[in-house]
Amino acid sequence: MENADIARVLTELADLLEIQGANPFRIRAYRNAIHTVSEQTVPFRRMVAEGQDLTALPGIGKEMASHIRELVESGDLALLGQLAEEIPRTLVTLKRLPGVGPKKAKKLWVELGVETVDGLEAAAQEGEVAKLAGFGAKSQEKILTAIADYREHSQRIRIDQADEAVRPLLEMLRALPEVTRLEVAGSYRRRKETVGDIDLLAVATEPEPVMTAFTSYPAVERVEMSGPTRGSVMLRSGLEVDLRIVTPENYGAALVYFTGSKEHNVKLRIRAVEQGLKVSEYGVYRVTPEERDADDIAAGQRIAGESEEEVYAALGLTWVPPVLREDRGEIEAAEITAEADGTLPHLVEAGDLRGDLHMHSTWSDGRNSIEEMVEACASRGYSYLAITDHSKALAMTHGLDATRLRQQWEEIAEVQARHPEIRILRGQEIDILQDGSLDQEEEILEGLDIVLISVHSHFELPPAEQTRRILRAVAHPQVNLLCHPTGRLINRRKPMQFDLDEVLHACAEHGVAVEVNSHPQRLDLKDTHLIRARELAIPIAINTDAHITTGLDLRRYGIDQAQRAWLGREQVLNCRELDGFLAWLHG
Ligand SMILES: [Zn+2]
Ligand SMILES: [Zn+2]
Repeated sequence: MENADIARVLTELADLLEIQGANPFRIRAYRNAIHTVSEQTVPFRRMVAEGQDLTALPGIGKEMASHIRELVESGDLALLGQLAEEIPRTLVTLKRLPGVGPKKAKKLWVELGVETVDGLEAAAQEGEVAKLAGFGAKSQEKILTAIADYREHSQRIRIDQADEAVRPLLEMLRALPEVTRLEVAGSYRRRKETVGDIDLLAVATEPEPVMTAFTSYPAVERVEMSGPTRGSVMLRSGLEVDLRIVTPENYGAALVYFTGSKEHNVKLRIRAVEQGLKVSEYGVYRVTPEERDADDIAAGQRIAGESEEEVYAALGLTWVPPVLREDRGEIEAAEITAEADGTLPHLVEAGDLRGDLHMHSTWSDGRNSIEEMVEACASRGYSYLAITDHSKALAMTHGLDATRLRQQWEEIAEVQARHPEIRILRGQEIDILQDGSLDQEEEILEGLDIVLISVHSHFELPPAEQTRRILRAVAHPQVNLLCHPTGRLINRRKPMQFDLDEVLHACAEHGVAVEVNSHPQRLDLKDTHLIRARELAIPIAINTDAHITTGLDLRRYGIDQAQRAWLGREQVLNCRELDGFLAWLHG
């Protein structure tokens, strides 16, 4: 069992306990522990095998440590089974719908006998939900909307969850002596924010043992299909994985074909036709019109197929990085001309980052002290960072008012004195209040090195009001950076409704940078929005919003998103060296 599976089971357990009405402190302890589990980069199966003391981890007590060991060793949790005899496990899905929650989920079940999303939808459509005490017509309407959203989003899983599920499978397959090449294709390779399924492509000296190893992989829940060179399985995590085994001569063409996107491939095929070529998953062929239309896949004279570079070159193109294959002008830009080998951008990489401008410490809801965060940034080679704890409106995060923030500055000064190798900026992530004013005193704003602003409440204001609210905040002269601008949580909360383009124009006008929040649940702004920000020449900060030192490594997801938006390091604010960055801050 992988860490992500463990976190998933423990979350289900916590949700069931919450529905049952367990002590809130116990639930809180569970949530803290789950957070630790999901941030943990070392696999628990290894820690358990080595007999490590799990209670040494933050928030992991004896009970949780024993749950984790049980899951690692047996793949199951007896307590979950016991609980499921008392409450239907499907209530967890209801509980997670916006507007439902644990108490209402229980009430729906006890009073209406509703156990599933389908059942809830039927009850709401018949008006039964509105009649329940504590619900009402408005709440019933909200539930129906939430169900529609759920249906729309529940099909795709987040890229980080796909990473977790795929990594051990790849390790297992790569270790097989028969496997000579292996790659994940599809939207996973293009690093989209969510993936529908996983397409694996392999070359093997002998396909059969590879297919057997694949279909008998322990995390497989069921085998959907199993042939000599193609298999399809459903993993316990709910992710469908396809494996295709191809010949070495076809590998490059197959990789292009299965990486997609569909739109990118269509453009490639059109280009091929214009040049008297045919491109397919088997290769690139020079064909006559009759051969092109023939059913024979290998009709014509084969000119490429073994590597991706070769396939693109046969079409007069340079190799296109998978993150760009969305038909956003990449094929045109890849065209090799007499003057140049295309005009594709040099994409930003994790190693280009010089600092991180958004992170939390134990002063608000972070897990690590300022000094621990500073050392973690220094060890990642950064030359600066900003400590940006929450402001007081976010009471549940222990947000800081003016007095506590001044105290924090003293600690920052002390840590700075001990760490001359890295520049620590005094920052704060300040709430944008409902009217667009900032949740901090003017005097304090002037004392901060960097001012971040975020919406953390009132996500559902009417669009015009929401736009006015954010515009007012962006126009504040002390503001430097607008964080997670749309407020979305992937598969959980829709982006706020407002005029993003108008807000971006205001950012450009007021010299405010925008963030790509690297947390894989946020990825906010997302790729298409970042393209717009780049067009408006707005500096973009790739931040992690880390709440724990290991959270700093989530930057790779922000980098993926930035690459998908064609960003080079010139457009990324925190790729600037310290002096250049400070000059921007003061400019
Ligand atoms: Zn935030
Ligand atoms: Zn934050």
